[in-house]
Amino acid sequence: MLPDKILDRYRVTKGDGFKLADFDPDDSGNVDFEKKDGQELLEVGVKRLSRLQQRLYAEGRWAVLMVLQGIDTAGKDGIIQHVLTGVNPQGVSVHSFKQPSHLELAHDYLWRAYRALPQRGHIGIFNRSYYEDVLVVRVHPELLQDQNLPPELITKDIWKERYQDINEFERHLARNGTLPIKFFLNISKKEQRERLLARLEDPNKIWKFSAADVAERRLWDKYQSVYEDMIRNTATEHSPWYVVPCNKKWFARLVVADVLAEHIKALDPSFPKMSSEDAADIDAAHKELLDEEK
Ligand code: AMP
Ligand code: MG
Repeated sequence: MLPDKILDRYRVTKGDGFKLADFDPDDSGNVDFEKKDGQELLEVGVKRLSRLQQRLYAEGRWAVLMVLQGIDTAGKDGIIQHVLTGVNPQGVSVHSFKQPSHLELAHDYLWRAYRALPQRGHIGIFNRSYYEDVLVVRVHPELLQDQNLPPELITKDIWKERYQDINEFERHLARNGTLPIKFFLNISKKEQRERLLARLEDPNKIWKFSAADVAERRLWDKYQSVYEDMIRNTATEHSPWYVVPCNKKWFARLVVADVLAEHIKALDPSFPKMSSEDAADIDAAHKELLDEEK
């Protein structure tokens, strides 16, 4: 488990003055440990998360919505795999947001997100999310033209309006028992180059490569600026962003596991209490089973 203060430094709850450049993707919290210690800490972190998830699941009131955003190779898939390993799969749902289908494009952009929300007691993971509609769609305005909107609704204010919609959507979720926690996985341009090269050169990784990854990389600066604007406009108390340094994968996983655990702990979910009737039933069942021995 990482000291709380380390998590605090990645949490963004208000956008004023937010600058992505203030967050170093190479950071590993100035904590005095190496990758190997980090892996051991992650095991501890995942066990703790798993115990907390059991309570969340048993209580069945709150849901946690974990939103993962980040440029290609930032480590979204690895985080899902490593952080949620050991957590009861019955209480977890993962949804990956790809290019929208015809059916999805026949609805507003929040529709597909709404349908994929986790049920009470579950942790829902959005691998990419409705935020793509203020990211990739903003970087490639032609995608906006494919969204079948009435043309008069596409104005210069559209991104500001989407931020407002998203803030209100997330406030609605938080007010109704679905806690949004958003992670921006922050890697450097240099690290992305290494990871793309690794994909190209490793036969076990090549399936993940898409020619679009290199084309999108050419738009690196544009992406950084829309990520920054997104966080500036959608970081709130009820739905914070965590800007996670991801150049060191093991550190990023540790941060995400701890952030999730801390938020679930703060919800303080409890196992359902027994009524006196339940207690009587349990006594009777216990007695019946013991009596079988006789
Ligand atoms: P991957 O995460 O590598 O499987 O790629 C999924 C692709 O779908 C990414 O290139 C995303 O930018 C793209 N995508 C996700 N949501 C949208 C959207 N709303 N509009 C257009 N493209 C999207
Ligand atoms: Mg990809």
